[in-house]
Amino acid sequence: MPFDIASEPTFLTRKEAALRGLSRFWTGRPCKFGHLAERYVSNRQCVQCNAENTVERDRRCRAIDPSYRMFRSVQNRSGQILRGEASPSRAVGCSHAALRRHIEARFTDGMTWERYGQWEVDHITPLSAARSLEHLIELCHYSNLQPLWKRDNLAKGGA
Ligand SMILES: [Zn+2]
Repeated sequence: MPFDIASEPTFLTRKEAALRGLSRFWTGRPCKFGHLAERYVSNRQCVQCNAENTVERDRRCRAIDPSYRMFRSVQNRSGQILRGEASPSRAVGCSHAALRRHIEARFTDGMTWERYGQWEVDHITPLSAARSLEHLIELCHYSNLQPLWKRDNLAKGGA
């Protein structure tokens, strides 16, 4: 988060900020990585370091955990189809762990997380069948998702 000179932040100690009920405070000093950013009152962490760590953690999880990659891909796909008209994570309606369990319970013979990519996540009732936004949101729900071998999904007509 770039330091916005226009907002003229007042320097606050963590204690002062906490007393004022603020979630962030501004020390006026860069963090050890040189960010001129606010700190969180709760844990003194630099707001920018925190944001960068979140991005980095996401990247790392996607690299090492196929089920997380799948979860993010489902959310991205829902986001693309909902185009900002509804929250994709609310439409999908479950956490990474819950989606992993849901999909894993529907593995057919030979499916493993390591083979994710050879199988993909299929919408049982295709999203193209949606008649309204409400219906589309319904079809994004995880209960409409199943793992399907890519060749079978292609035969089904994709998506
Ligand atoms: Zn920082």
